[in-house]
Amino acid sequence: MHYQGNIFRPPSEANSILLQVTTGCSHNTCTFCGMYKQSRFTIKDDATIMADIEFAAHHCRRQHRLFLCDGDALILPQKRLLPILEAIRGKLPWVTRVGTYANARSIALKTVGELEQLRDLGLKIAYMGLESGDDEVLTSINKGSESARIIEMAKKLRAAGIKLSITVILGIAGIEGSHRHAEQSGRALTEIDPEYVGALSLMLVPETELYRRWEQGRFVLPGPREMLSELQIMIRHTDLTRGLFHANHASNYLPIKARLPKDKAATLALIDRALAGEIDLRPEYLRGL
Ligand code: SF4
Repeated sequence: MHYQGNIFRPPSEANSILLQVTTGCSHNTCTFCGMYKQSRFTIKDDATIMADIEFAAHHCRRQHRLFLCDGDALILPQKRLLPILEAIRGKLPWVTRVGTYANARSIALKTVGELEQLRDLGLKIAYMGLESGDDEVLTSINKGSESARIIEMAKKLRAAGIKLSITVILGIAGIEGSHRHAEQSGRALTEIDPEYVGALSLMLVPETELYRRWEQGRFVLPGPREMLSELQIMIRHTDLTRGLFHANHASNYLPIKARLPKDKAATLALIDRALAGEIDLRPEYLRGL
């Protein structure tokens, strides 16, 4: 495979074929994110992508999922994305699910009809960073879209029948904005009503803008208990029709896997017990991104 730069994928795509169709992220200015700081955004040439699909056809016959890397493959114009999905379907018929990262701007470039075309060709899941439902936070982290816009675009994906996994970040509002961030994020998640929610706990990445702010004392990173309280408020304000709310990423202090609405009360009670010191939290040295 012709990989360039660092390759990232969601934890649930750990066993997927990783097909790099872009390098970097077309936005690349979120203050907390260091993933693609070293990469320039490019769309890889068709010949290289097709050669990688050919390679996968010979060497990845046991992998039934495929993830399109890097930052936001959905930004590819429809006329370039369709042949890639057609080639995946033709050459890798055992692949049952294609996934991608997506953001509000890349979704806005597609009509619902175009998204349905992608779904029909196998694009079954998109991973979208909401980060926060609070516009003040979204502005301060330079997300590039307001919550109303992110919610609208997330619903557009769902309307096209593409499953959604939404990421929120505990601690991203600092201590001062924590309560509002938790409430507003719960409200936004309720509106989007995705199949999956993944809550990460903020870990500051050197060489990012947020890290610099923290070094200068302009951003106060909430501690484990504060992040847990934030998670509790967020879950309290999140009402999903039928979804999985996970906070079991390596960055989290307390692993949570809740099926909402069924497990809501039990999860809130579990966090209460952790806050009361009855459950050990993951030590700092075992956390990771
Ligand atoms: S968080 Fe996502 S959209 Fe923001 S810079 Fe990182 S990869 Fe790009």
